[in-house]
Amino acid sequence: MSLIHKTAAELGALIAGGEVTAVEVAEAHLDRMAEVEPKINAFLHIDRETTVEQARAVDARLGAGERLGPLAGVPIAHKDIFATADMPTTAASKILEGWRPPYDATVTSRLRAAGLVILGKTNLDEFAMGSSTENSAYGTTHNPWDLTRIPGGSSGGSSAAVASYEAPLSTGTDTGGSIRQPAAVTGIVGMKPTYGGSSRYGLIAFASSLDTPGPFARNVLDAALLHEVFSGHDPMDSTSIDAPVPSVVEAARNADISGLRVGVVKEFGGEGYQAGVLARFHEAVELLESLGAKVVEVSCPSFSTALPAYYLIAPSECSSNLARFDAMRYGLRVGDDGTRSAEEVMALTRAAGFGPEVKRRIMLGTYALSSGYYDAYYGQAQKVRTVISREFEAAFHQVDVLVSPTTPTTAFPIGERADDPIAMYLADLCTIPSNLSGNAAISVPCGLADEDGLPVGLQIMAPVLGDDRCYRVGAAVERALESRWGGSLLSKAPAL
Ligand code: GLN
Repeated sequence: MSLIHKTAAELGALIAGGEVTAVEVAEAHLDRMAEVEPKINAFLHIDRETTVEQARAVDARLGAGERLGPLAGVPIAHKDIFATADMPTTAASKILEGWRPPYDATVTSRLRAAGLVILGKTNLDEFAMGSSTENSAYGTTHNPWDLTRIPGGSSGGSSAAVASYEAPLSTGTDTGGSIRQPAAVTGIVGMKPTYGGSSRYGLIAFASSLDTPGPFARNVLDAALLHEVFSGHDPMDSTSIDAPVPSVVEAARNADISGLRVGVVKEFGGEGYQAGVLARFHEAVELLESLGAKVVEVSCPSFSTALPAYYLIAPSECSSNLARFDAMRYGLRVGDDGTRSAEEVMALTRAAGFGPEVKRRIMLGTYALSSGYYDAYYGQAQKVRTVISREFEAAFHQVDVLVSPTTPTTAFPIGERADDPIAMYLADLCTIPSNLSGNAAISVPCGLADEDGLPVGLQIMAPVLGDDRCYRVGAAVERALESRWGGSLLSKAPAL
């Protein structure tokens, strides 16, 4: 089997055992990228030399006897929303074109410390606002299962890179579903850790009370290994949780769910959901039962109000966060010819630098926070948020995990929802509640929809700091389904 088809755990073991070098592994992936990038467009920035240099340094550290952990030398695709001192960081926005941060994000520096080799920066919806990567200022990424379809978003470059074997691992951020939804529609694993479980330091902020870095991988164990590498307390992030990282790797290896109480969220399913998605979801629930779980139906009535609440809270926070792009400090500056005031330059720069969706969110958020409307919009949405958290708490008194489809539909065609923001927002119907409450949630592949042969994701939600449960259940489902399928779901994807 070629190097690009191996798991991250296997690659790490081969490198640690001296059977292959980090440089050889990096080169195999760089070659794959050169081959498929013209079709996929998962990366915004690739720099072969910097990558090979990193790999060479890891080989030297290993050669000197340094102990770096199980992912040393393994390549990774890094979402272009994390600051990297040696590569540009744009958040897929024109306003940050060519910007090079003076420092690394905590997630970045932890990847480097563990010896991971960064292959490049991946495409996303501008400032992580979207569900398809069509809002990127640098072109859309294509879904490897069907190049005419979206790879999900906002972390669509990261999902497509892993699903097309350009990288065994990638990073993402999940504010409303941006890891789980792209994972679901490309047939891979994506995890949103508990909010505060992974550091936001050096992550370009979209909605600070929701943004959560997390891993993508082609299997549950690899995702857990990466989760462990970059999670844990960071004094540089004031909302970082000062508690031990849940034992996610152990949970992924254990995969025993006998006696586990599983709640099926009654409100997710029915109208608006694709038949093939619901069929695979119901089979996954039956599978959990056959593996010894006790399945009950759970009602969380306010989950149906999560989407409108999110679209007040997230834009409100973004309107404040994006005020820093003022033409003075970063990247683009338009119209500064000595005749214009600072305010005029600021207005021209923001008008030219932000795309339409980002502008829509800034306007929505500014309105929701404005005097006279604050209580009716932002304040009301915060109350809904509290009710949703309470419903989660009540549900987790009854059951150990909750399950639902990750997304209402499979990957939709590029262009289909581009002019219809509401249709685009609906892609996150099932993922948003966990962002509002901050609990952990994962998406694992559960089959292909009959109508279109495209991947379907199963979402497993666990309480705050119950991340290990997501991996335990995800690994149980993966094992059972892969033995039924005779391999991973991705092995059924058409070859690129
Ligand atoms: N699609 C959602 C949005 O557009 C979620 C994005 C995200 O999680 N970053 O806001």
